[in-house]
Amino acid sequence: MKPAPFTYHDPRTLDDATALLSTLENARVLAGGQSLMPMMNFRYAMPDHLIDLNKVSELAYVRFDDEAIRMGAMTRQREIEFSSEVGARCPILHEALSHVGHRQTRNRGTIGGSLCHLDPSAELVNVTALLGGTLHAVSKRGPRDIAAADFAAGYMTTSLEPDELLAGVTLKVPPRGAGWAYAEFARRRGDFAVVACSALLAVGSDGAIARASLAISGLGHSPLRPAAIERALESEKPDAAAFRAAAAQASQLEAIADAYVTADYRKHLARVLTYRALEQAAARAMGEAHV
Ligand SMILES: Cc1cc2nc3c(=O)[nH]c(=O)nc-3n(C[C@H](O)[C@H](O)[C@H](O)COP(=O)(O)OP(=O)(O)OC[C@H]3O[C@@H](n4cnc5c(N)ncnc54)[C@H](O)[C@@H]3O)c2cc1C
Repeated sequence: MKPAPFTYHDPRTLDDATALLSTLENARVLAGGQSLMPMMNFRYAMPDHLIDLNKVSELAYVRFDDEAIRMGAMTRQREIEFSSEVGARCPILHEALSHVGHRQTRNRGTIGGSLCHLDPSAELVNVTALLGGTLHAVSKRGPRDIAAADFAAGYMTTSLEPDELLAGVTLKVPPRGAGWAYAEFARRRGDFAVVACSALLAVGSDGAIARASLAISGLGHSPLRPAAIERALESEKPDAAAFRAAAAQASQLEAIADAYVTADYRKHLARVLTYRALEQAAARAMGEAHV
């Protein structure tokens, strides 16, 4: 349980970090280490160079403007969880974070590390898909923006180039009054979810659904935004019949199987969790739920 030998680098600026990344062969960046260190200890990852971003303070921030929340890649998950402004403007982030690992892992784990580790069920990856996130990559060649939908290149593989690192992410703040919910099933509290569903629901003055957004994780290698289900919900009354229909459609989505969970069970979970997320998001949108 010891990592293969590597050379450690601790740059103080983003410029120095990207310079190292552009010149060193087989280099990996270190954020909170909550996923990378176990992977190195098991020798799933054997970088020759480890570029530690923990002293690059310009990568740790949470900022808001009218329509967006901007977070530096090195922002700790716990800092987002404790931000009262995040709680007020983007409460689904708080709810999703409450499912991420444990207090200890969130103390060190970063938003950038979670997005780049790209576990198919990671809550922050799900919410980034739900909120139409933009990921900001940077290298010595310059900055590059990547839409959340284009960030996964494959199973736990990002579309970052070897000389690029993630500098930050921008999420669209949900419209005021929109209801939200994050429903997931994990085998134990703190484990990665088997399947998860997040929902945003805005209800218009006519009492019908004005906008619906869903992101379902655990069916494939990255969260799915089921556009057909979202569109079908719009103009419907936010009631059990509409949510049952959406849940039935979710259970028809393609699902992967692995050594632990069959595709059919994942589809069953997609149905149950889609219903739960929509029901709770609607209750919040209509002021009927305790938040
Ligand atoms: C017991 C336990 C339970 C957990 N449960 C959950 C859970 O339920 N849900 C969940 O989502 N996560 C869970 N995690 C993972 C946790 O959220 C990690 O914090 C996260 O996956 C990685 O973040 P990190 O900052 O620790 O990144 P690191 O482990 O340092 O890095 C992870 C990967 O991302 C790369 N990377 C990191 N930052 C950047 C960057 N800025 N640019 C480019 N590449 C980068 C690294 O090179 C590495 O490949 C759990 C972890 C543990 C130990």
